[in-house]
Amino acid sequence: MTGLVIIGASYAGVQAALTAREAGYSQPITIVCDEEWLPYQRPPLSKDFLLGRISEQNLILRDETFFEGKQINLVLGERATLLDLRARQITLAGNNALKFEKLLFATGSRARRIAVEGADFDGIFYLRSVTDAIDLKAGLANAAEIVIVGGGFIGLEVAASAAKLGKKVTVVEASSRLLERAVSSVLSTFLLDTHLRAGVDVMLDETVASFKGNDRKVSAVVLGNGAVVHADLVLVGIGGVANDEIARSAGLRCTNGIVVDAHGQCETSDIFAAGDCANHFNRFCESWVRLESVQNAQDQAKAAGLAIAGARAPYENVPRFWSDQYDVKLQIVGLAGRYDRQAVRGSVDDGRFSVFYYRQGRLVAVDSVNRPGEQMAARRLIAAGISPAPEQAADPSFDLKSLVT
Ligand code: FAD
Repeated sequence: MTGLVIIGASYAGVQAALTAREAGYSQPITIVCDEEWLPYQRPPLSKDFLLGRISEQNLILRDETFFEGKQINLVLGERATLLDLRARQITLAGNNALKFEKLLFATGSRARRIAVEGADFDGIFYLRSVTDAIDLKAGLANAAEIVIVGGGFIGLEVAASAAKLGKKVTVVEASSRLLERAVSSVLSTFLLDTHLRAGVDVMLDETVASFKGNDRKVSAVVLGNGAVVHADLVLVGIGGVANDEIARSAGLRCTNGIVVDAHGQCETSDIFAAGDCANHFNRFCESWVRLESVQNAQDQAKAAGLAIAGARAPYENVPRFWSDQYDVKLQIVGLAGRYDRQAVRGSVDDGRFSVFYYRQGRLVAVDSVNRPGEQMAARRLIAAGISPAPEQAADPSFDLKSLVT
């Protein structure tokens, strides 16, 4: 059996398979994934799942009958290990091999590991998969004092969930502010205040030197300044690494992810990549980017699925992301990157505002806190290349939608 082989059965893998099928790809489609679970939603893992609001079963995106109906063959619990480009073949961990006509990498990313003394103690968790989340949830049930290493999205979402569960939470962040690479200092300060109000202790400009343990179970975190913070449980959230090793060893171009064009295609024909594992040039960001978001995984996979079926439409979307912490609904469109001006619309004190970011007079990104209407308008503005003057953006009486009729 040849046809399309997809490695990874999450947002990108499933979307590419469906798009290819719907666009008329008539050859067999096989999705191989090393996880045993049916394709599931990852974002709730740090939020509603940890809070016990939804179960594992509620996370499932599609069941077996759906894939059977689309004639998509799901091979779960099997890890791809090797790509032989010349033989057009993928080898699986059990030594079985799959021949392909076209191949898509949808292998995602994994949690970056911390490399300090004691990092292998029990009680130190990472959060990437539903299995990680089940373990973390069980660990939280028996822990009172939690240390979160990393003040990025996953760290802060878990901090919010753990605080809601009544835990004593400490966040240790190496930068001078939260989410430093993703948002402005206005938003960092707002989120810091939100966490402090919820009783979370946030240590900025602090690194982890080592972990202390009893019987190989973590008991404390030793900081770079020598201070010791007691911990029954540690969650490490220090970023993601692209799962691009198979592509790299086969000689495909990889630079912080598998390098692809606007159709998700690698330089080698018939090989594609989409989602967290792929690095593409995004014209809205004016740079090469490897994005870790559901929107990117799905939209990039649509472009790849179309190209696989021979119906081409490039992936040219403005990046979007969201994060939920307490009652803060943060929505982000665009990448602020090296912005040179910002305008704040709404009230930071009331927790309802948007930050507009400009580069050389052009609107490049908007972060909204509990302002879904403004976020919708911002998406349309950035996609259309329309930039309200910063004064207009900051004026709540100015109708942003009037610019994109
Ligand atoms: P993934 O979802 O990473 O899936 C890749 C799959 O491929 C995995 O199942 C992996 O095990 C499998 N795989 C890897 N290598 C192999 C191999 N060699 N053989 C077989 N299978 C393999 N994004 C948002 O936009 N908003 C959010 O609020 C948000 N919250 C998140 C919260 C958490 C806790 C996490 C972990 C992520 C969150 N994200 C969020 C990010 C989002 O989930 C990812 O961007 C998205 O899942 C990427 O989809 P993907 O299909 O590219 O890869």
